[in-house]
Amino acid sequence: MTECTHCEERVKFKARERHQQVICNVYIDGAWDRVEHFHEPCYADAGMPFGEPVD
Ligand SMILES: [Zn+2]
Repeated sequence: MTECTHCEERVKFKARERHQQVICNVYIDGAWDRVEHFHEPCYADAGMPFGEPVD
């Protein structure tokens, strides 16, 4: 189960909805640390903490 970092509700993985979620690979000091998931609107609400999403 994966939760949205912003609203803490479950992020559902459906292929046809893949553009409605944002997946962020978070690096700390150049080393991969974790993946964070957001609903697309939640990512915008959070102020795009990891920059503009890319396809
Ligand atoms: Zn959310």
